[in-house]
Amino acid sequence: MFATPFLDLPPLDSASGTVVLPGSKSISNRVLLLAALSGGTTRVHDLLDSDDTKVMLAALATLGCGIRHNHVNGNTVEIDGLAGQLTASQADLFMGNAGTAIRPLTAALAVLGGDFSLHGVPRMHERPIGDLVDALRQLGCQIDYTGQDGYPPLRIGQPQLKLDAPIRVRGDVSSQFLTALLMALPLVAQQDVVIDVVGELISKPYIEITLNLLARFGITVQRDGWARFTIPAGSRYQSPGDIHVEADASSASYFIALGAVATSTTGTFDSKIRIEGVGAASIQGDIRFVEAAEQMGAQVASGPNWLEISRGTWPLKAIDLDCNHIPDAAMTLAVMALYADGSTTLRNIASWRVKETDRIAAMATELRKLGATVNEGADYLRITPPATVYDWKAASIHTYDDHRVAMCFSLAAFNPAQLPVRIEDPKCVAKTFPDYFEALLALSHTATAHIPVLCIDGPTASGKGTVAAALAARLGYHFLDSGAMYRITALAALRAGLVISTTDEAAIATLAQTLPVRFVDGKVWLGDSDVSEAIRTEEAGMNASKVSALPAVRLALVALQHSFRRLPGLVADGRDMGTVIFPDAPLKVYLTATAAKRAERRYEQLISKGISTTLEDLRDDLEARDARDSSRVAAPLKPAQDALLLDNSDMSIETSVDQVLDWWQSKQPFGLK
Ligand code: C5P
Repeated sequence: MFATPFLDLPPLDSASGTVVLPGSKSISNRVLLLAALSGGTTRVHDLLDSDDTKVMLAALATLGCGIRHNHVNGNTVEIDGLAGQLTASQADLFMGNAGTAIRPLTAALAVLGGDFSLHGVPRMHERPIGDLVDALRQLGCQIDYTGQDGYPPLRIGQPQLKLDAPIRVRGDVSSQFLTALLMALPLVAQQDVVIDVVGELISKPYIEITLNLLARFGITVQRDGWARFTIPAGSRYQSPGDIHVEADASSASYFIALGAVATSTTGTFDSKIRIEGVGAASIQGDIRFVEAAEQMGAQVASGPNWLEISRGTWPLKAIDLDCNHIPDAAMTLAVMALYADGSTTLRNIASWRVKETDRIAAMATELRKLGATVNEGADYLRITPPATVYDWKAASIHTYDDHRVAMCFSLAAFNPAQLPVRIEDPKCVAKTFPDYFEALLALSHTATAHIPVLCIDGPTASGKGTVAAALAARLGYHFLDSGAMYRITALAALRAGLVISTTDEAAIATLAQTLPVRFVDGKVWLGDSDVSEAIRTEEAGMNASKVSALPAVRLALVALQHSFRRLPGLVADGRDMGTVIFPDAPLKVYLTATAAKRAERRYEQLISKGISTTLEDLRDDLEARDARDSSRVAAPLKPAQDALLLDNSDMSIETSVDQVLDWWQSKQPFGLK
């Protein structure tokens, strides 16, 4: 997951490959609650691991459910159900920003009764719940608002249930209120319980998911159109034993759009993007996004739980669509509209206003930043793409702590103007798809020249390794420690019985070309041997310096170093990153400090590791290495012509990192932040 303040996506152009999608949020949280309310143990397979499911699991554990995670067997969680009997009669439950947790839990706890308080993050306290509370109060539930009327936080007490008259609930704000009642009322269905929906029911497909899952847990709801639902007397929850969570159809929308928008990497139209985990047999309404994407021009093939997408019509065709049936996935259409041949209108989307953020306002604002013309109304959005390639703008997309805003705007990186797109707070995707950006970047391609590289060169102990690693972490970029390549080569050469000198130059170069080196979780592996420690000694540094003076060895390591230039970007640390390996890098920094300072830093490092040494020895060593590195014929140590010099003798690492980041930001088209 990218936990950086922002993620800069370079301009992308093609895409291909297979993505296996995580489980659906809506299905995951419904299944968790149903399993908790049922008798017996339920094994939930392929459960989504996300913020919202964590919130639900934590609440269920607090309420007394036994919960066991089984990571060996995929993402399986075993829930010991409460059979409709809470073991905790009092609890304080944190609901984060998970609408799919607070609504059904409120209903279930309100009919069962006890002393419960439910609260969440500030945004949760702005999301309306009054219609659900009103409906529950009608049937005798005891619920108080402890903040603002109509919104969480809530306090739940003991009910005095009266179930004779039909329960009326509004259906035109959020279908989650009806879902909440449908899941709670089987707990108290000693007699037939009738729910009447007031107003036009929105998001019907989510109700279908609810009914479908209720059936899996033994409850057959009778339905009269979309206006009246009856839970038959004697309904009782029963665990199905095992249940699989299908992948999230809304998450599929980004990859369907990817297939429709990106050119094919392979140059053929065959199965450019394959999506696994959800397909034609899905019980989720958002699967009908496929039809909308086809209308815009996507070519789609499907099986029960897979989809294959390629680009069809190009540019995409503008559409005018009632999106009531695909409320979440329709956000993706708004971004696809940037690539259409005219104005696209998305209608009947008033529910967007009460989601994680006001999505109509958010989408309009951010689409405009990219150069689109957008008209918004109470319940619609009309998007006209930038008129020409020159009208596109490089934008920093604000994501409003809304996972779907972050995910759908990533598709703007395929813009024809080849501008990068900045996604702010990329970790907000954790709500439903923690590894979204990794999945997107794994499928996407771009010209190497578009993949940014920051080069941090300089003499030994200038702090460049630490600075470069910190920069990579701050930007979410890959990190190349090129010194490690020479250290590993020297070690491998010595282990192979070679002598580090011109005599064995050819043999060492051959070895370097096929180094079985792997970087895993901060460890360095050479074949089966963990060499992380062995390459960090002073002696290994000296050997590296010697091996690095051999031109054939340097040449042999070029391809390996180039292979680190991968999406979304790279920070490369070394001696010749800016001069030889990545001469086209957009930012080159030459980091240095006085020999005295560098010796001091190295001294402290070694002493803290318990290695005894003296300052004088270290300084002599450093100067010898500097002299060899700068005087060698092949790629001598020197600043690139266009490098920015940073003498950090009197700077902390943090200050050096901030300085380089400032330089980096000033080169970006988004402006300083
Ligand atoms: O940076 P580090 O101390 O790990 O590098 C070890 C040695 O490898 C350096 O002293 C230098 O001689 C060599 N090196 C190089 N070119 C690089 C990185 C390191 O010559 N890009």
